[in-house]
Parts: sequence; structure tokens; C-alpha cells
Amino acid sequence: MAWRSAVSIDPVASDDRRTDFADTITMIDPGAPAVLIGDLSAQRGDGIFESLGVVDGHVQEVGPHLARLAHSAGLCDLPAPNLAQWRAAIERIAVEAGPGENVIKLILSRGLDQGPAPTAWVTLATAPDSARARRDGVRVVTLDRGYTLDVPARAPWLLLGAKTLSYATNMAAIREAHRRGADDAVFATSDGFVLEAPTASVVLRVGDRFVTPAPQAGILHGTTQLSLFAHLETRGFDTAYENVPIADLETADAAWLLSSVRLAAPIASVDGRDKSIDRALTAEINAYLLAPRD
Ligand code: PLP
Repeated sequence: MAWRSAVSIDPVASDDRRTDFADTITMIDPGAPAVLIGDLSAQRGDGIFESLGVVDGHVQEVGPHLARLAHSAGLCDLPAPNLAQWRAAIERIAVEAGPGENVIKLILSRGLDQGPAPTAWVTLATAPDSARARRDGVRVVTLDRGYTLDVPARAPWLLLGAKTLSYATNMAAIREAHRRGADDAVFATSDGFVLEAPTASVVLRVGDRFVTPAPQAGILHGTTQLSLFAHLETRGFDTAYENVPIADLETADAAWLLSSVRLAAPIASVDGRDKSIDRALTAEINAYLLAPRD
């Protein structure tokens, strides 16, 4: 990741009505040390984050990302973020973006072990090149997530719908996919339903209908999937949240991994079996996702 810029935030209360946050947002050197060793983000992965796409200086879907940050904070018993302050920090760093694709990351940590306040910062980095994944697709393997579809309701302390900093298992799943000769993974429940990829949502097309697993299944509600469904609905397609059996990944007419930075990567094979890519529709979807979206 080529880090380009960073700001630290001194988080204020969510009900703080000030309109100027300048003295709570500090530019910091993205190459210099910034987090204390006692910070619980580093000690325990105890915090939450968001990754936002930036295309030619326009930050995509700021509102939905901030809404999900607040949702994750609630699930994790973190103080509610002041969304106007986070928006100000995003605006501050976005001016550094310039042309091309970049990624802004928002991080809210529980803070220092003994300290009363959370710590927070925002970074800007050059986005990895996703042209090939968008055009030629990704080979996926299905990996057992180790729990059944009803676990989120039975064990909310697993924080399954929160975008926490604890991504070690997600990264391990991608390494396992690479070991199996694939590019990426799709998590499935142990009772046979599709969940999500380690860093993306899964969307299937069956005829004129687009389907994605319901977020109540303990997955992140993807901002890219939400935005795409709204777009598809204006074009007259049906969209639905459903329990998706693993077999549907192979039988669907087309399938994609969707996320804020890589955008729509068509699934080119599932567990070693090739799947046809709908190149025209994928190109159209990515053109929509690359256009300015709020
Ligand atoms: N699911 C997981 C586990 C993710 O990490 C991500 C994005 O990083 C997504 C889904 C897709 O979310 P979004 O479209 O908001 O980037």
C-alpha cells in the first residue's frame, strides 16, 4: 500500500454540535510512528474501520460508510462517532487525492488500555490496481466459516456484522485460497449457505434477478452491493436478500465479488470449476461504480 497522507482525529462526543473541527484534526506524516504501543488496536485488534474508494478526488458513498462505522461502533460498545467530525476529516484528506484511484481508511480504536478516550485516524493511499480482476475475474474457493446460519443471533459477542480491525482470519482465508491455486475465498456456513468473501460481498445473477446473502446472516452489509442494487432497481431488475445455498454459486448465470476499492470482480471459477463471465454487464457495473456516487 503506498501511503500518501494521514490525519489523526481527537474524537469529540457524537452530540457535539460544533461546525468547525479544524482543531481536532491534525495532519500527520504517514511514514512516521503515530500509534502508541499500548493502543488496543495494536494490542488486540480492538477497534473498527472503513475503506472508502476515491475516484479522481471524489470520495464514494461517504454517508453509507459513516452509517456503517456508527453501526460497528454500536455493536462493539465504542462511543458513537461524531459523523460531522469524521466527514470533516475525510474532506481534509481527500484534497490530497488528485486523479486516479485511491483509498481512504477510517480507523476508530478503543484507545489506550488505561486511557479514557478512543483514538482515531484517517489515511489516504494509492489503491491497488484492480483492472485485471475487474476484467478477467477472480477464481474463488469456498471455505467453511465454521458456524451455522443462526449463529449471529445466538452469539452476538462474535460481532459478526461489525467491521472490526480483527481481520487476521479473513487474511488467513485469502492465504488458504492462494494455497489452493485460487485468488480469493467465499465463506460458507457449515450448514451450506454462502456468506461473503474475506473482503467483499457476493452477488449472484439468475436471469433478471440479482441476489445477495441477507446481512442478518452475520456478514457486513456492503456499501457497494447496496449502491449496485439501487442502480439495478432503477434499470428494472429485481433484487433480493436471501439465504443462498453454496450450489447456487456454480449454477447462477453470473456472480461477482463486490467491494469499495476493487469494485465488481466477476467470479471466474468456483472450487476449480470454470464459470462464465458476463463481460459486458461487468464492464457496465464497474462504469457505474467508478462514476461519482454519494
Ligand atoms: N464483507 C467484508 C468482510 C468486507 O471486508 C467488505 C469490504 O471490505 C465487504 C463485505 C464489502 O463492503 P463494501 O462494499 O462496503 O466495501
